[in-house]
Amino acid sequence: MHDIVSLPARGRLQDVFDLQRRAWSEQGALSVERREEALGALADALVRRADEFARVIAQDFGHRSLHETKLADLYPVVSSLRHARKHFRRWMKPQRRPIQMMFQPASGRVHYQALGVVGIVSPWNYPVQLALSPLAGALAAGNRILIKPSELTPRTSALLAHVIEEVFDESEVAVVQGGVDVAQAFIRLKFDHLFFTGSTAVGREVMKAAAENLVPVTLELGGKSPTIICPEYPIEKAAERIAVGKLFNAGQTCIAPDYVLIPRAQQSEFIAAFRNAVVRLYPTFSANPDYTAIISERHYERLRKLIADAQTKGAVVHEVGSDNEILETAGRKIAPVLLTEVPDSALAMQEEIFGPVLPVVTYEDIEDAIRFISDRPHPLALYVFSHDRRLVEHILDRTTSGGAAINETLLHCVQEELPFGGVGNSGMGAYHGEAGFRTFSHARSVFQQARINGAGMTKPPYGSRIERMLS
Ligand code: NAD
Repeated sequence: MHDIVSLPARGRLQDVFDLQRRAWSEQGALSVERREEALGALADALVRRADEFARVIAQDFGHRSLHETKLADLYPVVSSLRHARKHFRRWMKPQRRPIQMMFQPASGRVHYQALGVVGIVSPWNYPVQLALSPLAGALAAGNRILIKPSELTPRTSALLAHVIEEVFDESEVAVVQGGVDVAQAFIRLKFDHLFFTGSTAVGREVMKAAAENLVPVTLELGGKSPTIICPEYPIEKAAERIAVGKLFNAGQTCIAPDYVLIPRAQQSEFIAAFRNAVVRLYPTFSANPDYTAIISERHYERLRKLIADAQTKGAVVHEVGSDNEILETAGRKIAPVLLTEVPDSALAMQEEIFGPVLPVVTYEDIEDAIRFISDRPHPLALYVFSHDRRLVEHILDRTTSGGAAINETLLHCVQEELPFGGVGNSGMGAYHGEAGFRTFSHARSVFQQARINGAGMTKPPYGSRIERMLS
């Protein structure tokens, strides 16, 4: 395995890992004061360099809305770091737990301690958020941290490495840059926890590699997040919120609405409402600074093929946008596309779309829509548009997803108090706010014997005491 890793990258990865390991065994967790200072310093550095990050991310994408970068890459991280800084002393507090009567007057408590050296592997689609939001919880818990960002956003990774170097000693937090070869070596290190965000296919490889060393993992994966529009909900409102969630970052969002389930009788109304919403939100595409490009030629071609495949298999393609801007090749921007009558065999219904293409699936009865979702792998997000509370509860009861938003898209993901994570094929484990701190902490149970009366019940000669315990 090591032979395929370039020597400098392999050398640096192993060196930094060894350095952090040594620091952990000699000094242990970061002190509370250092955590507080570093959480604040990193947040301030990101605020200071927000424009610079927006510029380099735009270069990595070909074009990325500067506003989207600030809203989705910088704001959530600064918010997470500040939230953790404010609350981590409370999260750290040992929790007293009651002890059964027969063992009293001993006492019990749970301590939250750092795990040690943890690894974070992040994807390209929100290259700052997905590298640093997990770091907020890991740092608040006192861990030493190694980050491997995506090779598809190299300029952003370089700036990230630079900012991390300014704020941290390498024995505390470091960034290791490199391609898939470095990533493959990274996931084979004997971390105390490995936190991976990326595709389900690579997540499977990460879990296999981590299993060799019994390294626990958090997997933040992808999937097809459904949206149900219930019959009584105003179509225009739903269409606009779905358009916002779908077209943010040009659909390259793990929790983007992947497809829409709608009553058959309302399909044409939805198509018109979606088109109107898109025109209001994005009057143009190619020249619009707020409409983001597809990350690479390979991803762009994949989306074009996905649309062509659906059309070949009998789907109707509805181009949404002004006529001369549809499927534009220059600048890797793709104007939004709705697909109707899409057969299940089409790629658009088989794989995560991850672009501005939205299949519309119709239903006659809401129970059919629910079954459509529960028959498929558990998604990362579920969106329900309905004002009927009982119906919403029924849908939530009958389906499983990592998270859910009602009458909205995406926003559940930026709430510090809501744990964020997948379930089944969309991942395991969660983070954000306190959940992130717990993910990166070991909950150690401590039983403390009292000075008097110690363990009298459980030592021989037992007599009839044990029988009495069972009665
Ligand atoms: P990816 O799985 O291709 O890559 C993610 C990271 O894994 C990168 O750093 C990459 O270098 C590394 N990697 C690639 N191949 C590897 C291998 N064989 N072994 C070890 N590491 C490897 O994902 P991507 O294309 O960067 O991101 C898109 C995917 O991520 C989508 O499926 C999306 O849904 C998912 N995603 C999930 C979340 C979430 O929070 N659940 C957030 C963003 C993206």
